[in-house]
Amino acid sequence: MESVGSFVNIKRHNLYFNGCSECEGHCCNGAKGFAASPLILEDFEEVYQNFPIVFSVNDEADLVVYVMLNDGKGHCKYYSDMKCSIYEHRAPACKLYPVSPYFEHILVDTACPSVNFDTGKVICKDSKLNQDFYTQRLENFVAKREATSAFLDSIKHEEYFSYIGEILGLPLFKYAYPSENRYIQMHQASLKHLSLA
Ligand code: SF4
Ligand code: SF4
Repeated sequence: MESVGSFVNIKRHNLYFNGCSECEGHCCNGAKGFAASPLILEDFEEVYQNFPIVFSVNDEADLVVYVMLNDGKGHCKYYSDMKCSIYEHRAPACKLYPVSPYFEHILVDTACPSVNFDTGKVICKDSKLNQDFYTQRLENFVAKREATSAFLDSIKHEEYFSYIGEILGLPLFKYAYPSENRYIQMHQASLKHLSLA
């Protein structure tokens, strides 16, 4: 697998990073297409107090779960003075970006203006990710993703979900009934952060 959109496999290229100081938060901006990021179960605890966790369906009609980073029209509400105002508590996908796991692959987003093929800090070289770009989220990622899919399959009952709107064409749903499940409870508590124009 070589690439997905602007994301390229670390096994295909040596890639470098020049820092964020010259960038106006491209990856924090829904208007640039960065609004939603898929979650794995361990992410829920980290994100629900700051961001909405929402459900959607993919092309195969599988239930999927996302953190919504903004309303799809502008910057994340935590982007201020060209910085992340919750840096230590930013979403797991933000901590990894421009690196992103994809099934068993590790990808790097060449849409990040700082990613390039020859200058700056090494992101990946000779098919290996620089440990400075590594987070625990990548550890056993395939197993974590499978556990997340199994959880989503277990709650996939159409009658429990209600449509709440869309962002960048992505239909969004909430779990509409009380539940003892802690992931559903975190999802429901997180909805106070949802902003739909
Ligand atoms: S990671 Fe890339 S897109 Fe995001 S702020 Fe830094 S330079 Fe910009
Ligand atoms: S949490 Fe921080 S890094 Fe993540 S999108 Fe918001 S401002 Fe950007």
